[in-house]
Amino acid sequence: MAAPTTSRRGPGAARNMDDDNLTFETSPGVEVVSSFDQMGIKDDLLRGIYGYGFEKPSAIQQRAVLPIINGRDVIAQAQSGTGKTSMISLTVCQIVDTAVREVQALILSPTRELASQTERVMLAIGDYLNIQVHACIGGKSIGEDIRRLENGVHVVSGTPGRVCDMIKRRTLRTRAIKLLVLDEADEMLSRGFKDQIYDVYRYLPPELQVVLISATLPHEILEITSKFMTEPVRILVKRDELTLEGIKQFFVAVEKEEWKFDTLCDLYDTLTITQAVIFCNTKRKVDWLTERMRSNNFTVSAMHGDMPQQERDAIMSEFRSGATRVLITTDVWARGLDVQQVSLVINYDLPNNRELYIHRIGRSGRFGRKGVAINFVRKDDIRILRDIEQYYSTQIDEMPMNVADLI
Ligand code: ADP
Ligand code: MG
Repeated sequence: MAAPTTSRRGPGAARNMDDDNLTFETSPGVEVVSSFDQMGIKDDLLRGIYGYGFEKPSAIQQRAVLPIINGRDVIAQAQSGTGKTSMISLTVCQIVDTAVREVQALILSPTRELASQTERVMLAIGDYLNIQVHACIGGKSIGEDIRRLENGVHVVSGTPGRVCDMIKRRTLRTRAIKLLVLDEADEMLSRGFKDQIYDVYRYLPPELQVVLISATLPHEILEITSKFMTEPVRILVKRDELTLEGIKQFFVAVEKEEWKFDTLCDLYDTLTITQAVIFCNTKRKVDWLTERMRSNNFTVSAMHGDMPQQERDAIMSEFRSGATRVLITTDVWARGLDVQQVSLVINYDLPNNRELYIHRIGRSGRFGRKGVAINFVRKDDIRILRDIEQYYSTQIDEMPMNVADLI
């Protein structure tokens, strides 16, 4: 982030930036609290948490909830599907004072669907608090945004573009915001979003608490956090512990691109055992593959960022309800989206970077469930697959005949 280094957070904050050999580790003395009861959470929120079906906090929740609700800056990393995004909803509900009808927490997410999901979870967990949450996202009516915000909400969960727009119109007033959360923080601080995030950040009050969340936090991202965070509590995962035991990873070698299609058709029965997500690297390819599957009489749905938001919403809700079972999509679906019934992920194309691999396969195996990831690899892709395997110290075997039994 291009923030000035003479930060408003005091002289100590930026000091580490000079040290090129900085290594980042979990902060010493992070307390582990093994039940929600012992976290000092308000009764009405506890009721909401248990009512939503959470009985016991996950490992990351046991470590990160307390520092967040105690007002510390926190960098929280944990494997996909282990309850990080849910933790945002939970802690924000705790921090917000519902007697004050002003925006007190701002949560930013990279996609509209993820920002909406967070809104939904917060409304469910915060059911007994009467918390007002608004998803402020692109593709929706600006008039409706203005109406909701002027009516007064406690929390905004949004995407950077629309949020920035609402702040500049002075419709989203920032003076009472005490907490900024970046979900999928490495994506939010990467090239595509960084300037917009900084744009938003400039409008927020100086005494801001900042929380960063992601399954992947590359070193270069951790390095820039000292520019806008104050003595953050870090909870980190080593990269050889980032892949989940529960997600079995396989590859199918295809001589050339054309063979991928037949391979996918052969797998169709397996795809529909529960639900499956198929990733392609471009929107055009999603359209092409969807068309081709349909003309071969396979039932599939598709979603990507060029579709009108209304259509995206409809496709999401059909897939969430289980009405559709096979979704062909782009990396708009790679991060954060939670559909518990997804047990199979297919990389029709290998992802363009190592982080995306972790996020894509993490659409399956949610919260300890079983999952299977199948990578279609052309001859010239094998190198990329081996790199991923090595980088995460994981194992990607050739797909066995009985793969359906593993789902
Ligand atoms: P992440 O952001 O780490 O990928 P999510 O917060 O999306 O994970 O949670 C993944 C799934 O686990 C969701 O379906 C969520 O409802 C569920 N979950 C989260 N925390 C708990 C908990 N403490 N107990 C039971 N289920 C949980
Ligand atoms: Mg998440």
